[in-house]
Amino acid sequence: MRIIVQKFGGTSVAKPETREMAAQKIINSYKSGFKPVVVVSAMGRRGEPYATDTLIDLIQGVYRDTHPREMDIIMSIGEIISSTIMANTLRSKGYDAIAVTGWQAGIITDQNYGNANILEVRPDFIRHALKQGKIPIVAGFQGVTENGEITTLGRGGSDTTAAVLGEALRAEFIEIYTDVDGIMTADPRIVSNASMIRYITYSELFQIADQGAKVIHPKAVEIAMNAGIPVFIKNTMSDSPGTMISSRIEKQQHAKGRKGDQLITSIAYVTGRTQISIDTKHGLNEQNTILRRLADNQISIDIINIFPEKMVFTIDGHATEKALEALKDYADGCQVIKNCSKISAVGEQMRGVPGVMARIIQALTARNIDVLQTSDSHTTISCLVKGEDTINAVLALHEEFRLYEQ
Ligand code: ADP
Ligand code: ASP
Ligand code: MG
Repeated sequence: MRIIVQKFGGTSVAKPETREMAAQKIINSYKSGFKPVVVVSAMGRRGEPYATDTLIDLIQGVYRDTHPREMDIIMSIGEIISSTIMANTLRSKGYDAIAVTGWQAGIITDQNYGNANILEVRPDFIRHALKQGKIPIVAGFQGVTENGEITTLGRGGSDTTAAVLGEALRAEFIEIYTDVDGIMTADPRIVSNASMIRYITYSELFQIADQGAKVIHPKAVEIAMNAGIPVFIKNTMSDSPGTMISSRIEKQQHAKGRKGDQLITSIAYVTGRTQISIDTKHGLNEQNTILRRLADNQISIDIINIFPEKMVFTIDGHATEKALEALKDYADGCQVIKNCSKISAVGEQMRGVPGVMARIIQALTARNIDVLQTSDSHTTISCLVKGEDTINAVLALHEEFRLYEQ
């Protein structure tokens, strides 16, 4: 069986017109001899009746502190609605499609509500359906614990469903259909001259996704990489070839004949970060205690700098109050800057090349953007800036590395 996984995001299944286009992609692969396993997200974005954010607003508008268990039950409903509608769209065209829930698909998770980890996939139900010639339309983003509790896989988690099913079913490839032509050099919503990236490695895309580019969930990239399954990101609404994600060697082979290598591949950003600086006159012991308190409160930290008498780190803005409560003994020497953004330049070619950080800082300061903190690895340089500078900073780095010239 030549199985492929085709995943359609929220905007791709939101309206009858887009569902028509999604159905056509599925039918085309079916007619080409593939056995498509389809994964769908909830329909549309916030404000549309069955979108995930609408369901969250619905319950939280009435009961602010709904238990995470019930949150997951209500959040899972959007994908179930979407899978039944999409199955009917195909059936109305004469194709034998069936809606499949996360638990019918055998997505077994731990009990970490809201961001559950997949422990195992038992795809018997789907295999059986495929053998009968059916097209399974799986509700993404959801799983079930061994005890039968419904869980969700973290925001954007339908990509993760597609990746684990691809792995479990040994799919030939995975297609992620969305509302843009593929992976771009920056979020096209804020950089109008962002250009398409035709080939990218798993590890570069993982970094871009991990640094905030919503276009695919980083877990999905990691799973596909470990399983060695090629992934394509494509537009439901067009026939553009999309982006192919594969290993480094394949990328180089495909990239032959293109313009010279770029140092930076893409600029990503995350908003809503809080920076906390604490005076720590008692050195490492005190710093250890602070780190431990944050860990005990399940608060993860990022961009951390430790000096003999000071430490600076950033956290997710939603955790600010919890962190300040946990660190109230240090309130006197504590400075907090809320609503920061982390801007990251990602590129495997920058490994070992001197001067990239200097160019980044220069490009930002030339636009009067204050850099609050930086961090770097072999393939990623990140700068923390104030929230109001987000768009300007992304544009500055996109411009500096001439990413519009792919
Ligand atoms: P879906 O509902 O299809 O999963 P998402 O909203 O999760 O769609 O992801 C697609 C969005 O990702 C695009 O509309 C785009 O604004 C955003 N995005 C952010 N960074 C990038 C990037 N580098 N390349 C392409 N899209 C990006
Ligand atoms: N509907 C879920 C979300 O909005 C999952 C997804 O779209 O991938 O996060
Ligand atoms: Mg998504």
